Amino acid sequence: MKIAVFSTKAYDKEFFDSYNNDAELTLKYFEVALKAESANLTSGFDGVCVFVNDKLGEDTLRILKDNGIKLILLRCAGFNNINLEVAEELGIKIYRVPAYSPEAVAEHAVALILALNRKTHKAYNRVREGNFSLERLRGFNLYKKTVGVIGTGKIGTAFCNIMLGFGCKVIAFDTYENEALKEKGVTYLPLEELLKESDIISLHCPLTDSTRHIINKNTIAGLKTGVMLINTSRGALIDTADTIEALKDGKVGYLGIDVYEQEEKLFFNDLSESIIKDDLISRLISFPNVLITAHQGFFTKEALEQITMVTLNNIKDYSNNVTTENEVLYSKINASKD
Ligand code: NAD
Repeated sequence: MKIAVFSTKAYDKEFFDSYNNDAELTLKYFEVALKAESANLTSGFDGVCVFVNDKLGEDTLRILKDNGIKLILLRCAGFNNINLEVAEELGIKIYRVPAYSPEAVAEHAVALILALNRKTHKAYNRVREGNFSLERLRGFNLYKKTVGVIGTGKIGTAFCNIMLGFGCKVIAFDTYENEALKEKGVTYLPLEELLKESDIISLHCPLTDSTRHIINKNTIAGLKTGVMLINTSRGALIDTADTIEALKDGKVGYLGIDVYEQEEKLFFNDLSESIIKDDLISRLISFPNVLITAHQGFFTKEALEQITMVTLNNIKDYSNNVTTENEVLYSKINASKD
């Protein structure tokens, strides 16, 4: 079996090479992202292994099919970057890593909250320059604040548990209610009420047609003035242009994002010597109350181990024709929408 691994970074290679003990499995690493323009590189391979910003739309998938690709291995949970319907029609199987340390992402969301609130990133720089002043570093207690969680799946649940530990009042919105969370004191509310009551809102739902721009100028109008907005899920959950307006007029008091609508042109690359042509991210970077990290929520040792081991196991399951929950089936996902 020959697999072309796209969007490879040094850490992907390090983990895959140290965990791959199958002599029959060849992994060839490409630094480029997989998209229509790079899809010809897949000639001679059986499968491709991709990450969040590889683009597997219809054009790419048809080239993969012509090149003999039979399986797609996602090194992530989300599959919004693949046209599932076309993949199924072409008979290309898709596997994902449904959970790789949900705590990693939940803990990163909390890191964004704490840093934005207590301005530790600014204090760090100040002290290094001999500035020991506390001016403009004042934060607020998280204790007893209301935290609204949109999406209480694996990551949202881990996040709720941490915020309950801080003594916050945790309210949630999800299409399914988690009974265990309710027993711990989490209250489910309709979205509008959650938006109205929250001091901090954290997004943990997937990107779908119904969640795209769930934060937009209409929903922003219903927020508490000065709210803290955290997004570690997918960039397009937030309408960036509308959020910039809300930051300008103070409706949104703090923004912490690990994901960004147009991140595929930026994130995971060192562009420090380049001219950034994306005016929206440049505007976001200019705000003193915005903290941006470049999709590093998943980036812990434990999560990388899990991603690598589950991906290698997905290859084994595919080869042995074993049915697994990790297979992404368009027909199943489409049926569950009805
Ligand atoms: P999950 O499938 O366990 O949970 C998603 C939850 O969202 C489910 O409970 C689902 O019912 C809910 N949901 C679906 N549609 C909704 C809607 N319209 N409104 C409210 N809730 C809705 O997924 P997870 O493992 O918790 O991951 C959540 C998201 O986190 C992923 O979709 C992915 O986009 C993102 N993620 C980010 C990183 C990162 O590094 N920043 C890493 C992994 C995952």
